[in-house]
Amino acid sequence: MNFQRPKGTNDILPGVSEKWQFIEETARLLFRDYQYQEIRTPIFEHYEVISRSVGDTTDIVSKEMYDFYDKGERHVTLRPEGTAPIVRAYVENKLYGPEFPKPYKMFYTGPMFRYERPQKGRLRQFHQIGVEAFGSANPATDVETMAMALDFFKQLGIQQIRLVINSLGDKETRQAYREALIAYLEPHFAELSEDSQRRLHENPLRVLDSKDKRDKQFVAEAPSILDYLSEAAKVHFEAVKEMLDALEISYEVDSNMVRGLDYYTHTIFEIMSDAPGMGAQATICAGGRYDHLVEELGGEPTPAFGFAMGVERILLTLESEEVVLPALNELDAYVVSLGEETNVAALKVVQAIRNFGFSADRDVMGRKAKAQFKSADKAGAKLVLTIGGNELEQGIINVKGMASRQEKAFSLTDIYEHFDDVYDEMTMMMMDSED
Ligand code: ATP
Ligand code: MG
Repeated sequence: MNFQRPKGTNDILPGVSEKWQFIEETARLLFRDYQYQEIRTPIFEHYEVISRSVGDTTDIVSKEMYDFYDKGERHVTLRPEGTAPIVRAYVENKLYGPEFPKPYKMFYTGPMFRYERPQKGRLRQFHQIGVEAFGSANPATDVETMAMALDFFKQLGIQQIRLVINSLGDKETRQAYREALIAYLEPHFAELSEDSQRRLHENPLRVLDSKDKRDKQFVAEAPSILDYLSEAAKVHFEAVKEMLDALEISYEVDSNMVRGLDYYTHTIFEIMSDAPGMGAQATICAGGRYDHLVEELGGEPTPAFGFAMGVERILLTLESEEVVLPALNELDAYVVSLGEETNVAALKVVQAIRNFGFSADRDVMGRKAKAQFKSADKAGAKLVLTIGGNELEQGIINVKGMASRQEKAFSLTDIYEHFDDVYDEMTMMMMDSED
């Protein structure tokens, strides 16, 4: 029997989940400013949706899929990425129709699944936050979307990052480059990895994305795709660079970068973290343009642009850069109750406070006063309300402002009926004592 989590997965525990919430909340607010709406697609899809989109010769499809046949003999797979399912949904729900805004902009957050060798920043269940914009061929869309990703990292307080771009051009570009790349690699056929040998004629671009040492020596000297851009592809890429300059966004061009998915066209990009210790898992955001995928999955020809960020890698970056995220959960009031006879009153008090819309907690373990005050302190409670046998008899409760240590007794009726006023009064008292 094995009561351990599956290899390559994580339990995201309280204490850490707050960080996840902060990251997701920051993304939601920022994406809203850019007019993106949330989409939630199934965690599993028909195998074909992924294999057709991502490409049969990619690592993702050929090695990393969590696919299986369900009880109805359907070939399905846990989703390895977010774009293909969203394109499937876009086509299926006819979101290209005239009644929908153009471009149609969506974001998502959630788990993705890839059967990989687990290591730091590389998991089998990992999480992405991503966006997709459908309908715009304008290079300004490429640039504002990359700018949004950079804005996001800036808002989180991440500083040591680099934007790397390349162009994969259009169909004409790819055809010309394909031939040049095969011609360059063929003489070295015997020295390539088995994977690359197999892929050389099927999909030579994959060789450039190989992580195998044997292939890497040839990649460095490979012809540059930028020398094969068609006229239209050149115009698009030049416009992207010009617009990045106009926004004073610095970037590097890496003509060997091809990305691990087949669907990209024109602009592709990665945002790399230069924080120490990220190793080979330094890419925290990746994406690009995919102008033919909607058509490929049966929709009207629709240009598109998107990216995905790895949440686990963002957390590693935050840690490495020693960024402290603000705490989201503050406690307004903690109720200390002394003696069993106060149990009911304490219950009524916390519930009253919560009903007024404040956060509140209390002791339910029958602990001594000291331990309860310690809990209040640890939770960062703004107010501590104390009730013992004497107070209960008099129908009162002691309220203490933790910032100023000032105390005042209120009637229990005040708490039940006007806790908002009590809260205001105590807050004023604490502010006055600050001056
Ligand atoms: P890599 O080259 O690191 O394998 P990839 O090209 O497979 O990345 P994408 O499919 O473009 O990555 O995914 C976008 C982002 O999702 C990556 O930049 C990374 O931050 C994150 N990511 C991808 N795979 C994993 C994984 N197995 N574990 C954790 N994060 C991942
Ligand atoms: Mg990968």
